[in-house]
Amino acid sequence: MIPKNTALATRYFLYARKSTDVEDKQVLSIESQLAELREIAKRDNLTIIEELIEKQSAKKPGRAIFNEMLKRIEQGEAQGIICWKIDRLSRNPVDSGKIQWLLQQGVIQHIQTHSQSHYPNDNVLMMSVELGMANEYIRQLSANTARGLRQKARNGIYPGLAPLGYINDPSTKTVVLHRKNAKIVKKLFETYATGTVRLEDLANILKRSDILSKNNNTVHISRISFILQNPFYYGHFRYGGEIYEGKHEPIITKNLYERANTVLRGRGRTLKIVDNPSPYCGLLRCGSCAMGITAETREKHQKNGNIHHYTYYRCTRKSKITKCKESPVRSELLDKQLSVLLSKYAMPKNWIAPLSSMLDKEELKAEHTAKDAVLELRAKVQELSRDIGRLTDVYVAQDIERADYLERRRSLLSEKKTIEEKIADLERTPSLWIEPVRNWIKDASILDEIANATDLPSKKSSLQKVFGLNLHLKNKEIEFNPLPPYQYLRATRENFSETNLALNLEYLLKQACTYFIKNSGEMLNVNTDSVLRKRFEG
Ligand SMILES: [Zn+2]
Repeated sequence: MIPKNTALATRYFLYARKSTDVEDKQVLSIESQLAELREIAKRDNLTIIEELIEKQSAKKPGRAIFNEMLKRIEQGEAQGIICWKIDRLSRNPVDSGKIQWLLQQGVIQHIQTHSQSHYPNDNVLMMSVELGMANEYIRQLSANTARGLRQKARNGIYPGLAPLGYINDPSTKTVVLHRKNAKIVKKLFETYATGTVRLEDLANILKRSDILSKNNNTVHISRISFILQNPFYYGHFRYGGEIYEGKHEPIITKNLYERANTVLRGRGRTLKIVDNPSPYCGLLRCGSCAMGITAETREKHQKNGNIHHYTYYRCTRKSKITKCKESPVRSELLDKQLSVLLSKYAMPKNWIAPLSSMLDKEELKAEHTAKDAVLELRAKVQELSRDIGRLTDVYVAQDIERADYLERRRSLLSEKKTIEEKIADLERTPSLWIEPVRNWIKDASILDEIANATDLPSKKSSLQKVFGLNLHLKNKEIEFNPLPPYQYLRATRENFSETNLALNLEYLLKQACTYFIKNSGEMLNVNTDSVLRKRFEG
């Protein structure tokens, strides 16, 4: 113990480090640390001139309060530090070096921890070892905590109350399907994914099945919206702010979940649908503020007493961020633009036969193609699993923020689930992608007729097939971005010459096949091109 007369001459900073770091769960809370250290100071008669509390991890150099403290010590304000453990002071070589140097020089005359004292004449090696051990300790702890986290995720058992469609099985402590309600939940997703119903309609579906709120009212639409956004239904679950891969049986595919959520996002919860929805409602979004485009009818009274009704399409102006100033467009003008646009993606009739026969040949090789694609997809799944593991390590090692970690983890798990579903699909039905390609040929070959007809609902349906959700209205003009097969189709139409038509069509079909094998769209960035190249060359 330090002799009392020296202690009296020495002034101390009490330094405590507070952080949300994972490893801090293993040590005393900041309040207990402070209480104990004050007790030690009192016991040994050490004069604390100020209590300094750092809110940053010690893993990286550059803590503001720590640096300030060393500066003040160098200026002679204090000569000693009281801290919980030496590893509270430093867990990185830069700060360790500084402390050792100041101690060796006698600038720091004493470091008192809850269990140990350090003086200038101490064996420098001992302190190096202890600081080194602090670094080693956090590495070990990181590994352990990472294992713990992964273990929890791997168990895949949801620890909470089962959501609608499931029940908690007390005997096995797992969550199992509620057969009847599971069917109803599935129906909710399927119905909503069509984009033709409101959340209120889903509430009525529940009501008809006698599913009511706690107070025996119709389930509120905010609750319905919550159900539609619960990943539990495709097999993942949220717990403590994180997404885990569950072991429970999914009710729906992630694909269906995403289609329903696309509708939900595109629409916003509060959009009312007019009683007689105009044909192009739900097709476009505003090019300025990304809100939905809706329709309204206006009356025009003529002098002779006739009343004309005009339909206008306009932004719903629901954005809370921007005040949208886009002006409405007359229905006729919008229709004309859409029709012209649609006709540009029509497939010339003389392409149908050669493309169909090429596709027939593809079908014979479909199983082989699917196998190759599955191999690539599996490799991608493994890669994603490794990424998720690495991400956890990085997080536990405190190199990224929690919010960032959660977001990246969510996105990696989501991508993995999508690919796993794709693999299951391809294994179950190796020629699954053939049919969509066939439909694409069929759909594309009638676009001209549809563009020239007056059947607006059919036009809308075709436009959705060509553009998905990538149609925007800005300055009364359509902004568009077609799905790849249609994009290639138009490019081929505009660039081909008769002499190399066959080659062009082969390339076009290749692109369409690639797209439909990937099917789930942009979210998959697996390179199936090499597989296809092989097939088309060989
Ligand atoms: Zn707008």
